[in-house]
Amino acid sequence: MSLRTKFMLALLLTGLAAVAMVGGLAYVGMSKKVDLIRRQHAADNFYEGMSGYLQKYGSWQAATRAEPFDDFMHSYHEAQGTRPPPPPEQEGEERPGPPQGEGPPQGEGPPRGEGPPGGGDRRPPRRGGGEPPYHFIVADQDFHVLLGAGVYRPDELLPESARKDARAVKVGERVVAYISPEGVFTPSKQEQQYMDAMREALLAGVTGAAALALVLGVLLSRGLSRKLSHLTGAVRAMHSGSLLQRVPVEGRDEVATLASAFNDMSEQLARSHEELKETHQTILAQAEQMRELSVRDALTKLHNRRHFDEQATTLFSHAVRHKRPLSMVIGDIDFFKRINDQFSHATGDAVLRQVGEILRSHMRLSDLVARYGGEEFVIAFPETELPQAAALCDKLRNMIEGFPWHEVHPDLKVTMSMGVYADLAAGTAEAMLQKADALLYRAKQTGRNRVCFS
Ligand code: GH3
Ligand code: MG
Ligand code: MG
Repeated sequence: MSLRTKFMLALLLTGLAAVAMVGGLAYVGMSKKVDLIRRQHAADNFYEGMSGYLQKYGSWQAATRAEPFDDFMHSYHEAQGTRPPPPPEQEGEERPGPPQGEGPPQGEGPPRGEGPPGGGDRRPPRRGGGEPPYHFIVADQDFHVLLGAGVYRPDELLPESARKDARAVKVGERVVAYISPEGVFTPSKQEQQYMDAMREALLAGVTGAAALALVLGVLLSRGLSRKLSHLTGAVRAMHSGSLLQRVPVEGRDEVATLASAFNDMSEQLARSHEELKETHQTILAQAEQMRELSVRDALTKLHNRRHFDEQATTLFSHAVRHKRPLSMVIGDIDFFKRINDQFSHATGDAVLRQVGEILRSHMRLSDLVARYGGEEFVIAFPETELPQAAALCDKLRNMIEGFPWHEVHPDLKVTMSMGVYADLAAGTAEAMLQKADALLYRAKQTGRNRVCFS
């Protein structure tokens, strides 16, 4: 579940719980209060009615014998010009005539026309299909129950606990009865409508609060998730290699602190990475330089003997495998010792450098040339048959001889003798070189400044 959804749910649940708690408490509190007022009101009315009833006839016995209480109350209301309270829901009303509700408003009266006390059912009459809103207990002056309100039986002695709330009904100075409120709340149709309206209002409140919490949740979580999505996007970008990332820093909350710290970290990381990259490049360049130095001759900048031997072996294997021609050459400067001695060692070095340059500049890319040691040079010509290689060597020899050495020193003359060998049957590159060396020896023996081959 995403953070956004969680945040939204948390707000929604909190909002709902708060509204349900406050609304529920308000509903219960209000119901209790309404019940209390209603009960009080009904008790007062009942007391008033019952007092009038008993005072009219002098005693309970006389009164019930003469007139049912409900009839009395009906006349009472007519005389007073007041409207009797509407009866509660009366589906399946048992009998016609003055409705039960014509007693004290919402109160319960004594039995109607049911004969004298003791001679009939003293219990409060039932309303068709429903209970009266309240039952009230009526006891005689000695606390013997006259009306039990469904709690006590007639003639039963009213217990002490029920007596303390009882109000005395007097005829002159004589107490003829006690009335005690007691009963169960049974809402009338109107009250039920009030309570339904309250419940509906509460439900509307809960729905409104839920909608508000939902909207707030969406707005807040969208804001939060937008900020976080910047960060996650930036982290992903860093992961894929773009280390320098900047996310917007909005506000001063923890996410803003995180964003700011992230920006600093990203910047530092990118800088370190750049430095590391530069160092890496330097190391690579130096390594390449070292490698190059290790395979080059410092004086002539041609490859050295070690590199030539390695490469020549490879060229030889390749030539054998593919049955391709390969020519090996070894050349040696004539009377080089004399050049050193006659001119100078520095002149000797200059000659070596220049001969190296002549050889290098006339090679193809695939050819391999190296200073083999002292004033000796070696060349490998891949894909080259013997006559071709010999001709090439003679051309090189010619070039060396024809170079304007007098520019180095007026009396300087330089020539080179060379041996060329091209038979792979020698077995190895090294063996081919030995054969070439033998041919070089022959060139030296036969007058120098020449190319011998076989
Ligand atoms: P040959 O015609 O028979 O080859 O005679 P040569 O004098 O060339 O042969 P030798 O082997 O007697 O002399 C080679 C000389 O090359 C000896 C050595 O002092 C010189 N030499 C070797 N390496 C260098 C170098 O790097 N610089 C210079 N200036 N001289 C070198
Ligand atoms: Mg030599
Ligand atoms: Mg020599």
